[in-house]
Amino acid sequence: MRGALGGPRVLLRRLREVMAEPVSAQDRLDKIVVMIAANMVAEVCSVYVLRVDASLELYATEGLSRDAVHMTVLGAGEGLVGLVASEAQALNLPNAQSHPAFSYKPETGEEIYNSFLGVPILRAGITLGVLVVQNRAHRTYSEEEVEALQTTSMVLAEMIASGELSSLARPGAEPAVRRAVQAKGLALAEGIGLGHVVLHEPRVVVKNFIADDAQKELKRLDQAVDTLRASIDVMLEEEGMSRAGEHRDVLEAYRMFAHDRGWLHKMREAVMTGLTAEAAVERVQSDTRARMQRQTDPYLRERLHDLDDLANRLQRELMGADQPKRDELPENAIVVARNMSPAALLDFDRSRLRGLVLEEGAATSHVAIVARALGVATVGQIENAASLADPGDPIIVDGDAGEMHLRPPVGIESAYGEKVRLRARRQEQYAALRDKPAISKDRQRVQLLINAGLVVDLPHLAETGADGIGLFRTELQFMVAATLPRTGEQLGLYRAVLDAADGKPVTFRTLDIGGDKVLPYMRALEEENPALGWRAIRVGLDRPALLRIQLRALLHAAAGRDLRLMFPMVSAVEEFDRARKLVERELTHLRRHGHKLPDKVQIGVMVEVPALLFALDEMLERADFLSVGSNDLVQFMFAADRGNARVADRFDALSPPVLRALKSVADAGRAHDKPITLCGELASRPLEAMALIALGYRKLSVSAAAIGPVKAMVLGLDVGAAEKVLAPMLEVQKNGRSIRETLQAFAAETGVPV
Ligand code: PEP
Ligand code: MG
Repeated sequence: MRGALGGPRVLLRRLREVMAEPVSAQDRLDKIVVMIAANMVAEVCSVYVLRVDASLELYATEGLSRDAVHMTVLGAGEGLVGLVASEAQALNLPNAQSHPAFSYKPETGEEIYNSFLGVPILRAGITLGVLVVQNRAHRTYSEEEVEALQTTSMVLAEMIASGELSSLARPGAEPAVRRAVQAKGLALAEGIGLGHVVLHEPRVVVKNFIADDAQKELKRLDQAVDTLRASIDVMLEEEGMSRAGEHRDVLEAYRMFAHDRGWLHKMREAVMTGLTAEAAVERVQSDTRARMQRQTDPYLRERLHDLDDLANRLQRELMGADQPKRDELPENAIVVARNMSPAALLDFDRSRLRGLVLEEGAATSHVAIVARALGVATVGQIENAASLADPGDPIIVDGDAGEMHLRPPVGIESAYGEKVRLRARRQEQYAALRDKPAISKDRQRVQLLINAGLVVDLPHLAETGADGIGLFRTELQFMVAATLPRTGEQLGLYRAVLDAADGKPVTFRTLDIGGDKVLPYMRALEEENPALGWRAIRVGLDRPALLRIQLRALLHAAAGRDLRLMFPMVSAVEEFDRARKLVERELTHLRRHGHKLPDKVQIGVMVEVPALLFALDEMLERADFLSVGSNDLVQFMFAADRGNARVADRFDALSPPVLRALKSVADAGRAHDKPITLCGELASRPLEAMALIALGYRKLSVSAAAIGPVKAMVLGLDVGAAEKVLAPMLEVQKNGRSIRETLQAFAAETGVPV
């Protein structure tokens, strides 16, 4: 390295000595800047620390005026230092003062220095400060010098992260490393959780940065890379994938990166500067993370995520036994993860788990489905959550608003504490309604059923006092499993469900896969429009073996009891005819082989495809009952993808087109004397449920958490009065108050809790 005295390895060794000296934080920083300046033959070396208020404060300097230390503060993004921090990228300039971002701070006396090299002080991809060297001469610092300064900055990153510098800060101007972070993402599972951070994939904490023997470290690195490559090959070979959610293309990307020469080269170079193998991985990974945060192209971002993941694996490989073992979950744990498989979520101790924060995740992702079933407050799409949070940090998950508050200020924490207490009180009130039937003021009985799909849902039946299970989503068992559930496993689940229901009705929906419901072990089809593609009953009819196995398991499980089953996404009566024939064939088969049969089999159809709205009479002549899947029906009626946040809530379901359609189903059911249920999310919201009752629905299947609020609404409702308010609004629409507003006003006037 040009001009450097003794090279980076000597510097790192000396830094290690300084880190171990029993001196004050300021003395340590002062010594460090002197050493770096001398080593790099720079006239100036300064450390700026990012503060909670997003400004950068000069914490130490060699070469600039000492009086400027703790006095010079640069606003967010101000000057060259601000630029290095905001871009999280090194800046190497032979003529700094001509750069448009240059900002002159007279108290520092820096006007005489022309060349400037600034590197971000990064930890896990998050900027904590900026390290700068300057020279009078116009010089461009070499690649090696930039590398060396970046490596040195890691030591400073650890110093800042350890909290050692906080004692030097004025109140309100502490280093940002421990700052409160409030982030808004997607509400995935309702509820509020207060607790402490547990990282799902514990970050590897590198303690030993500086190596004595570079050759030995190179060998360790090479060996670890070899082991990593071999383990990816094994994963790729393993039939059905070893871990749920790790799709083949991700593994292929891993393999590609693991063999990437550039990646390995960078890490080896970092080792040659004097770092240990694990510190070298961290150094390169930190750059990757910083790049990831600047990357807006979703595809490239995803690839950088893969690379980040791979580096984590490599570090675990290198440090293996040195890492602390995962303890038991502490009380009030909030798990923070990039993403998680549903099976991993089910492995946590539910009694201690208060919430979940994901960097990824969508409303329809499997982990979100399981989180809802478990009642774990969950938010998704929180950028960098796992990098920002440290184990044990206080954290709040607001699964209603989709917010995360990391290291919250006292005010926020007490406000949420109050919210949680209020919620608990409301839950007690709902619990008190458990054994009361849902009967309106004018004596209309409404059946309230729950939607379920997993074994963990079953206790909800007794907890809520629901009238039964109106929708059992059988695909969830398939979605959370690592491999296709065998007949015996299916049978076991269906029996357990019927046992838990203890005579209350259960409506099983046959496999509803395809579209957004992807099975990790089945190759996903490339479809232009998966929601309109090969899914649900279409798959069942084209792959009758799969459907027949399920039907057989259902018929077996219900031996000697009543069985209600229904088919999803039926678009035409012929599909129902074919599906029913499969049921009859299975019944004949069981009968012929002397098996005990269900006492009664009722077969229904989900109304989810608008075409069925115009075939209700034909359908009702064939089916024993109908169940409206409003999630799908509304998405298809408005042609607005239910999983696309941009359009999902654009149209109001409480509008004449939807309500007229829903009324036509209820009316047809009455005319044919066949029961009609509504089992989409619509029924889970009290105001919407009130509208459905006013349209004629008397069976609503809702999420378990909605039973209390919907029942409270029914108990306070005069159905006749609501009908009178709603009916005229379904006629020709006039300008004025919307149906939603009208119903809200009606509820307020009559004291119905919605
Ligand atoms: C629906 O579409 O409303 C429904 C209940 O089914 P799912 O949400 O499982 O698609
Ligand atoms: Mg549906």
